[in-house]
Amino acid sequence: MKRRKTRGVKVGKLKIGGNAPITVQSMCTTHTRDIDATVRQIHELEEAGCEIIRVSVTDMNEAKSLKKIKENISIPLVADIHFDYRLALESAKYADKLRINPGNIGSNDKVKLVVEQAKDYHIPIRIGVNLGSLEKEIIEKFGLTSKAMVNSALKHIKILEELDFYNTIISMKASDIKRTVDAYRMMASKVDYPFHIGITEAGTAYSGTIKSSIGIGSLLLDGIGDTIRVSLTSNPLEEVKAGFEILNSLGLRKQRTIISCPSCGRTEIDLIGLTKSVEKATAHIRKPIKIAVMGCAVNGPGEAREADVGVAGAKNFGIIFRKGNVVKKVKKDKILKALLDEINKL
Ligand code: SF4
Repeated sequence: MKRRKTRGVKVGKLKIGGNAPITVQSMCTTHTRDIDATVRQIHELEEAGCEIIRVSVTDMNEAKSLKKIKENISIPLVADIHFDYRLALESAKYADKLRINPGNIGSNDKVKLVVEQAKDYHIPIRIGVNLGSLEKEIIEKFGLTSKAMVNSALKHIKILEELDFYNTIISMKASDIKRTVDAYRMMASKVDYPFHIGITEAGTAYSGTIKSSIGIGSLLLDGIGDTIRVSLTSNPLEEVKAGFEILNSLGLRKQRTIISCPSCGRTEIDLIGLTKSVEKATAHIRKPIKIAVMGCAVNGPGEAREADVGVAGAKNFGIIFRKGNVVKKVKKDKILKALLDEINKL
């Protein structure tokens, strides 16, 4: 898949854009002033593979809390600022990136102060445009459209560039797929800054994942997108899981893949239960292995043979494959263990 050419922007130890792998990020649901709870949640997210974490900064106490949080985590920390530019000035001292919303951060002079501070601390800024909080004059001119989001972002890119600041990442999000995707597509040829992509306020883990997959997936298929956030009304662990699943499905980040048939009246094993157990037991695997869980002999042996490890169900037992070869035949209650043993050997 040919990716859009973008300049690389460093965020802590990572790079976004410039051909770096597309990263998966999330956002804490804790109050940032509760340092212990925030660090605890970030550790859980790190464990799940989260590569960049954002926290909200709502007052000066929270801006100062970033110092301690940063000292206790190992992934880049992003400070999310709305309304008060002074929080951005303080956060820049500790965070690896600032996210500001141009629609509500205040006058151009305030944006300029934030830019100067980011320059002094050598950190990038994400211009995070949201359809729901666009500047009044932009809405008057363009309405609530993709064009409005693009123009809001361009206006702020200009302010940053006039200050000789190019350490910028762009996002333009709406809660509907069409306007979000159109905005990114429109912007793609106008600038070479990397894009943070996602559908904002996408919904619950189920509907939001579907919505995000369509929106993020459409852009990724166009080669657009350098870092992603799946925005869900759920535990942020779900966001990370969904983010990697989207990238994995498009072959953009390789991790373990499970191929499983939908099951039907031909299967004689508990295929749904078995697949769920395999998914859970292998969730930690970050290597590109392919696991096939198939219900019967119709497509089972074919798919299972293609995979690194696989099972094809039969009457009361399963045939276990590894790298295309039949390894053994086990009773149905021993299938999970046999599969995991073979996976561990890999
Ligand atoms: S592989 Fe077998 S059990 Fe699975 S859907 Fe196909 S026919 Fe049904």
